[in-house]
Amino acid sequence: MNFKLVRQLSILCLGLVWPLISPAADSFNILLYHHISSTMPRSTSLSAQEFEGHLEYLKQNNYNVIDLALAISSVQQGTPLPDKAIVITFDDAWRDIYEQGLPLLKKYDYPFTVFVNTDPVDQKNRYTMTWDMLRDLKKQGVILANHTRDHDYLVRKPNYDDQWLSDVLDNINYAQQRLTDELGPVPKWLAYPFGEYNNRLKLALKDQGYIAFGQQSGGIAEFSDWQALPRFSAAGRYSNLKTLKTKLESQPFPANYKAFSNPVIRTDQGVQNQPSLAVELTKAQKLGVRQQLSCFIVGDRKMPDWQSKMQFTVQADQPLGKGRNRYNCTAPVWGQKNYYWLSHQWLIYGGEAPPKE
Ligand SMILES: [Zn+2]
Repeated sequence: MNFKLVRQLSILCLGLVWPLISPAADSFNILLYHHISSTMPRSTSLSAQEFEGHLEYLKQNNYNVIDLALAISSVQQGTPLPDKAIVITFDDAWRDIYEQGLPLLKKYDYPFTVFVNTDPVDQKNRYTMTWDMLRDLKKQGVILANHTRDHDYLVRKPNYDDQWLSDVLDNINYAQQRLTDELGPVPKWLAYPFGEYNNRLKLALKDQGYIAFGQQSGGIAEFSDWQALPRFSAAGRYSNLKTLKTKLESQPFPANYKAFSNPVIRTDQGVQNQPSLAVELTKAQKLGVRQQLSCFIVGDRKMPDWQSKMQFTVQADQPLGKGRNRYNCTAPVWGQKNYYWLSHQWLIYGGEAPPKE
């Protein structure tokens, strides 16, 4: 039986059966992968064996790996999701996803999404998939979506004026058009290269009807910021199952993400690089022991300052280094063993030329 049909049937069966056998959930977590390879850069890779270890873990621990489209529409429409809902995504459309990842994902019958940079495919880069491979994936039920045309650093630019915005939107819309021309209809979803964005871009994408994904940690619920959705990186040093386990079972921290500060700190424009993250809770009563809320800034523990029952701030003790930095906060879920998880990525940028990554 073909993979797509199996998947559609399993979604149908899941829809009919799961309310009877497992509690409904109103959130889901996304895993982010790049390469399935032992020879590509370790920071964005894990081996086929390690990847199979993740899939087997999900199966053994009764996670429900579901389609990103189903996950998004369920949360947005308020229809219940299966308990322990997980979505698998890949960025960059590397050829090893097709060669190493696809056979394993078919074996476990897990749906997935690939975010594609269209220029490398058009240029027939030997490490990326071809349009024929991508068409084959789509035929098998895989969702393909936008990761810009060329993987440019969207916000490492001299300024964020109208010309900048128009160039960035042209880049994104060009990729969307190429995907549509080659593959037929694809969802209006963007994964930001390197998870880097600013508030002006976020709002423009919202106006254009895009949903967008970053690379900060956390889960997705109705209160999420739909133009800055979090994903848990699961490759390189994050591929260890012991740490991944905590993330898989975590729940989205109930906060007003849409009110988070602009994530780009311009040191060349006099903005101090010790940003304070102000968090407004949406459901204080569901949080575990308030004193157990703890935050980590670039790996160092930092206790938050509570302004009221529903608000706290957290700020680094020292200036953050150039490039990407993350603030992570977790709190135990009342009466359970898992955690609420919140993360915000800051880009400390002084106008210099972007690195070659
Ligand atoms: Zn990428």
